[in-house]
Amino acid sequence: MATIKQLITDGENALPDSDSARLDAELLLSVVIAKPRSWLYTWPDHIPALPEQHLYLELIRRRQAGEPVAYMMGRKEFWDLQLKINHDVLIPRPDTELLVETALAKLPEDESIRVADLGTGSGAIALALASGRDNWQLIATDQSARALDLAQENAKNLDIKNISFFQGSWLAPLSGLTFDAILSNPPYIEKNDPHLQRGDVRFEPVHALISEENGLADIHHIISNSPSFLTPSGWLMLEHGYQQGEQVRQLFAAFSYSEIETLRDLAGHERITIGRKKDAR
Ligand code: GLN
Repeated sequence: MATIKQLITDGENALPDSDSARLDAELLLSVVIAKPRSWLYTWPDHIPALPEQHLYLELIRRRQAGEPVAYMMGRKEFWDLQLKINHDVLIPRPDTELLVETALAKLPEDESIRVADLGTGSGAIALALASGRDNWQLIATDQSARALDLAQENAKNLDIKNISFFQGSWLAPLSGLTFDAILSNPPYIEKNDPHLQRGDVRFEPVHALISEENGLADIHHIISNSPSFLTPSGWLMLEHGYQQGEQVRQLFAAFSYSEIETLRDLAGHERITIGRKKDAR
């Protein structure tokens, strides 16, 4: 007959390996009893029904085995949006918000520009931009039909209308179109990277994480193909691994982009590289 307070303490103590044990426990309990997290603080002495207590303990056990909270909850906050998430897509990361921030800072706020998000997954990047700039037109692609279904569902739930979706690999479904900016957070992890054995990534779709050529194959593909899809001086903005900055800048240079620049994430790591298509004057 445990109280809310007791269940949270027990959950927290059961998760010594998580660096957010208390938050994990609170989120899982709140989803089980279908109340916001703040409710847990208002009613610490409430005793949830037994089936709810059992379900909660089961989720704590799954968390102990490493399963990400976002997959168990079926949602994740990104930018200021609540996104539905499932095993077909990567869990959106705070690092990726830097890509959104950069696009908002560099691209003209008042013009009705066209922006592509390649490999949109849950739709995180495209939806954040579409919601922040209702005069921009967002085009999101993904090769996974299931990912695209989820991204479309997210657009519908959030009532975001200035976005359209195309199924296919990277730029392939966009032939004949041009964009003022192309953005992507492509897979960029090298297949033998030991990080793949730890944490959330063990539960995420492998095709959203791993890329050939030491993690650079998809980045290379996007950099080399984007110029034909960019308007003159159009921007390409890519997320990449924290040790890939130099190689990614070299690729931008090899394909004649200008104004090449790398930005650092909150941890101080090189994370986003941007460049502009050379003006064909
Ligand atoms: N664009 C999505 C995100 O940033 C998916 C990225 C991916 O699957 N590599 O969350």
